[in-house]
Parts: sequence; structure tokens; C-alpha cells
Amino acid sequence: MLIAIKIGSNVLTRRDGTLDFTRMSALVDQIAELRQRGNEVILISSGAVASGRSEMSMPAAEMDEMGSVEQRQVFSAVGQAKLIGRYVDLFRDHHIHVGQVLTTKDNFLADEPLQNQHQCMAAMLAHGVLPIVNENDTVCITELMFTDNDELSGLIARLMGCQMLIILSNIDGIYTGDPANPASQLITTIRPGDDLSRYIQSERSAFGRGGMASKYATATRVQAAGIPVVIANGKRDDILTSLIDAPATTPHTEFVAE
Ligand code: GLU
Repeated sequence: MLIAIKIGSNVLTRRDGTLDFTRMSALVDQIAELRQRGNEVILISSGAVASGRSEMSMPAAEMDEMGSVEQRQVFSAVGQAKLIGRYVDLFRDHHIHVGQVLTTKDNFLADEPLQNQHQCMAAMLAHGVLPIVNENDTVCITELMFTDNDELSGLIARLMGCQMLIILSNIDGIYTGDPANPASQLITTIRPGDDLSRYIQSERSAFGRGGMASKYATATRVQAAGIPVVIANGKRDDILTSLIDAPATTPHTEFVAE
């Protein structure tokens, strides 16, 4: 099975915004395990901006002087290098080569760049290389950016014809109300045509650009393309292997495809 796995910034960062290497390492171990069992994986990883911000630990006054675009450019340039370097080291322990794919929204708007991207990732997979995709935040113009990496992960899953998209966030899935309210219940299954927009909270996550609204929008689009989507909590231990081995007892929301 070809699985696209999206890891959000909130999964990879600690409360203070620094990169959580322990979590990264645990997720890499599980991805290696999935590959060992015969699956292929494409990873869509956020965390560049967060890791750059924590690497540089810039004084607040200096940050204030930078515009938001400049911050994104500098932090993502510094942070992506650090992030991918860490992935290279962690996957090397499993004898897995990784390849970095940085892309922009315009690459999805015309046939030729789309085909190029497909070809490059297909070639990587054919040679056992695990693609790690992120938006090229350093050169993106704000007006022409993906809403967030959830949107990017959906486009990649569809482009590559994945059999499943797993979106890891810091929440178990979609709830019937505020997840902090004990009366809210986790929605386990969403069928094509189910309209759950009334349950979707619109606030964004702390360190990434996404939020549940964009996950829901992406997931329904990918589901409509016939690919099942799972939203689960990347902060739970062994989440990826549990989702495959014991889905019934692992909290998550699945958008089933027909
Ligand atoms: N591309 C951004 C990063 O790596 C994350 C975008 C998002 O939060 O979805 O920092």
C-alpha cells in the first residue's frame, strides 16, 4: 500500500516551539516499520518555520522589526535545512534514503510541473527513496501559497494515487463539539456525503497554519477522489502502527472512501 503521511508542526514541536526530536524519532521508527511490512510511504512534513524560529531564538525586538513574510522566509530557510538533516540522520539508522521535495502551489496548476513532480516522486519510490515533501516557504509569495500542508498533503495523495492519507495532528480527530468539553464525542467514521461542517472549529493550530477546518476540507476532497483519509493524534505513542494493527481501539476519525 502507498501511504501519504502528513505530520503537522504541532506534532513536531514542544510547547515552547522547539523541535521535539524524541517524537520525530519515534515517528521515523514507525514509518520504517510500515515500510518493512511492504508499504511505501510519502511523508509530508511541516515544522520548517517552527524549527527555524527555535534554532535562531531571535530576541523579540529583532523579530518585531521583521515583517511576517521575512520571518517566514528566514525561519523556513534555516529550519528546513535542520529538519531534513534530522530526518536524514534518523532514517539512516534504518538504512532508508530520503529525498527532499520542496514545492509551490503553482506546481499544481499546470500539467507540465505536475507531471514532473509525479515523475520525480515515482522515480524515488521505485528506487526505495522516501520522499519528504514540504512547501518551499522560502520562495513562496503569500498570495500563492497552499492554505497549509493539509492541503498540500491532499494534493500529493491524489497526484501519486496513494491508497491512504494519514494526517497527524495534536488531536485525536473530529469531535462533535469543543474537544476540551468532556461531553464532546470523537466522530469515528465519516461517509461520503456526510456533512459535518457544523462540528468543525475554525481556530488555527499554535505553530502551524492549519486547523480542523482545513483538515476537513482536504479530507472530504481526497475522500471524493476515492482515497480514505485518517485524522489522528501524532502525539500518541505508536500511533501509526496502532492505526494499522488495532484501528478499533485507536482513537481517530476516518473518512471512508467508497
Ligand atoms: N510549511 C510550513 C512549515 O514547514 C507549515 C505549513 C503548515 O503549518 O501547514 O513550517
